[in-house]
Amino acid sequence: MSDRHAPVSTPASTGPLRRNRATSHVLHRHTGDVLPVAVGGEGCWLIDAEGRRYLDASGGAAVSCLGHGNRRVRDAIMAQLDKVAFAHTGFFTNEPMERLAEMLVEGAPEGIGRACFVSGGSEAIESALKIARQYAVERGDLARTRVIARRQSYHGNTLGALSATGNTGRRRPFLPWVIDDVVHVSPCYAWRHRAADETDIAYGQRLAAEFEHQLRVLGPETVLAFVAEPVVGATLGAVPAVEGYFKAIRQICDRHGVLLILDEVMCGMGRTGYLYACEADGVAPDMIAMAKGLGAGYQPIGAVLVSDAIADVVLHGRLGLMTGHTYMGHPVACAASLAVQEVIRDDGLVARVRGLDATFERLLRDGLGARPEVGDIRGRGFFRGVELVADRTTKRPFPATAGLAKRIKAAAFDLGLICYPGSGTADGIDGDHILLAPPFIATEDELALAVERLGQAIDRAMADAGLR
Ligand code: PMP
Repeated sequence: MSDRHAPVSTPASTGPLRRNRATSHVLHRHTGDVLPVAVGGEGCWLIDAEGRRYLDASGGAAVSCLGHGNRRVRDAIMAQLDKVAFAHTGFFTNEPMERLAEMLVEGAPEGIGRACFVSGGSEAIESALKIARQYAVERGDLARTRVIARRQSYHGNTLGALSATGNTGRRRPFLPWVIDDVVHVSPCYAWRHRAADETDIAYGQRLAAEFEHQLRVLGPETVLAFVAEPVVGATLGAVPAVEGYFKAIRQICDRHGVLLILDEVMCGMGRTGYLYACEADGVAPDMIAMAKGLGAGYQPIGAVLVSDAIADVVLHGRLGLMTGHTYMGHPVACAASLAVQEVIRDDGLVARVRGLDATFERLLRDGLGARPEVGDIRGRGFFRGVELVADRTTKRPFPATAGLAKRIKAAAFDLGLICYPGSGTADGIDGDHILLAPPFIATEDELALAVERLGQAIDRAMADAGLR
């Protein structure tokens, strides 16, 4: 073990590190009693203060796409700190922000011409919604206030993003505050909701028709935007849409003057084997929200990519851009993100993920596919979901009270594997899933090890829950 990963030092002035949730001064989200302290990271591995190593097969929550300890990103951060750490964007632009915008726009779907940088995914969604509203206001389209999103989606934790979020469990406590102007339609979730005698194409068209029907019910002239993830992450577990679905949605949006906002916070920036996940669906949205893989965890950063058509109206309007945060376009965050994106480009990592797509899928199918509790294995590239069911024929989920996904997360962690649990059971319909989103640098051996440990974790969790 290198010095970098030596056990946590104990400053004499403050006494032993408080890592017990009950006595820590931190208001923790972690539900464990004694919290492991992360002290190091190397490639796909995280290391705790006891020297235990964890294979980070979900990059936290699909964040660490370059893995940990990337020297080129570290050097870019240090170099920027040596120049200037912060210069408010109300006064200055800065070089890494301009270069990053240039790079993102260059690779973006047709029509996208600008980037607005924020500090994370929720801010990116909030900003997209506010820019959409500003666009409507500047055009005198004042009636357009409503947003259509999809049930079981997750678009963030701040109140605007939570309003777009369709996962009822995450919304319920805050219902008095979430805005009424968001209406939710069905997710595109073929494995569970496509009828037995329906083709993928027909299913996608049925959902598009449902969307258009909802638009007509609301009055299309009152609808501002449709928000959706091309591949649904946290709430469904790496579920891509069926062929033709997003194309049909795009056409309907165009027909009614509704903006298409794609949430690529989790699935974007190469994770699916495409730089932008929507490339696989063959659509060009009006705005794209991104975060996670944008900075790969080296700095907090998010962005909204905006079409020239929208940017022109907003920039030349009466109001000027009315969404702003102190830390937007932070030079160090942008320098880190620029370096991350340069590594992805120079090392051909999107092509690498795409090239390993079939390998990863085969490893998952061979390793887990025959298990009676594994209902579905899906996803694209290095963004994969495993759904667990009590009955493979009826797809009946395990009871929510068993908390299976969370038990698997805990058992996996014990076995030295980080995977991301999710459960749609709060919506009363769908069951537990596990998300795998390994770093783009993961070797075939590391992918295989992740699958092997996940299998062991499922066994342990099933036994612990009394389900086997
Ligand atoms: N959208 C999606 C699709 C996400 O997965 C997340 C985070 N899990 C967010 C938005 C919110 O991002 P953040 O946690 O950075 O605010």
